[in-house]
Amino acid sequence: MRVNLENTTRKLCVIGDPVLHSKSPLIQNTMLEALKLDYIYLCQPVAPAQLAPFLHAAALLGYRGLNATMPHKQALLPLMDTLGEDARRFGAVNTVCIRDGRFFGYNTDGVGFLRALAANGTSPKGLRVTVLGAGGAAKAVALKLAQEGAVRVTVCNRTAERAALLCALDEQGVLRPAGFDIETLRREARQTDLLINCTSLGMHGTQGQFDDVTFLDELPAGTPVYDLIYAPPETKLLAEAAKRGLPAYNGLGLLVHQAVCSLELFTETSIAFSAVQQALQGVLGGP
Ligand code: NAP
Repeated sequence: MRVNLENTTRKLCVIGDPVLHSKSPLIQNTMLEALKLDYIYLCQPVAPAQLAPFLHAAALLGYRGLNATMPHKQALLPLMDTLGEDARRFGAVNTVCIRDGRFFGYNTDGVGFLRALAANGTSPKGLRVTVLGAGGAAKAVALKLAQEGAVRVTVCNRTAERAALLCALDEQGVLRPAGFDIETLRREARQTDLLINCTSLGMHGTQGQFDDVTFLDELPAGTPVYDLIYAPPETKLLAEAAKRGLPAYNGLGLLVHQAVCSLELFTETSIAFSAVQQALQGVLGGP
């Protein structure tokens, strides 16, 4: 990649541990180039014990902002001067803006997923949603869909307690916990308008896999199936959904749209997705 640096170039980065696998620098630098914005976006490994000193160093060095991935998303909460509503509700910060030496923490996963849905012509209003998983990603997706008008969001998780804890965060009573056994999944699938896999089953580099996907047979015809995983681009779940003629979407949509939301916060501008879509497709092959 060729980078034109000026003395005025503003700095952004992604922090994590590990972080060298992150696609954020590729996505953000591609968008910055397409939009002709004078910023550079770097990749910065930060060990957990170095998080607070790193934040202060970043402010001293004039960084405008950063994205955070594992394991920093929760640890950033008490280090922020101000929290956005979603960061507070989801209990996780993935975007930090540094303005006049003050730290503003946001979470762009929920809005990013809504935008990914909208790009495929889906609005959550009135939908019965089944979310598989109750981890950090499931929390953002399930709470946002409930807030945006889904009539029921069933959170199916292997560990019952975690599903119950997530559902207890929803004041509107839209979320309800359920199990992850095949009978439960088959029963829930029959009453589902949108299915989203937020577990790590099928993800590159992990052991787990869906061994029984027959719950897909129970989904009403045309029900969209989303998998938040993007590596591999087609998980077993998505391949099986496509075989059954169901619209199937991977996690690239969320990855890209949450990045656009972060860049909007860093630059305090709104960005038309059409202005960056072609450049992103060139480097990512989608969405
Ligand atoms: P997390 O907090 O660790 O949650 C993992 C979830 O997977 C939990 O619900 C866990 O269930 C479930 N799980 C793991 N192994 C399982 C197994 N063998 N059987 C059944 N359930 C199992 O992870 P996360 O941050 O939410 O991420 C979840 C997935 O979303 C990952 O694949 C991640 O790559 C993806 N993601 C994608 C994006 C994107 O931009 N596209 C963004 C965020 C996350 P228990 O509670 O029972 O352990």
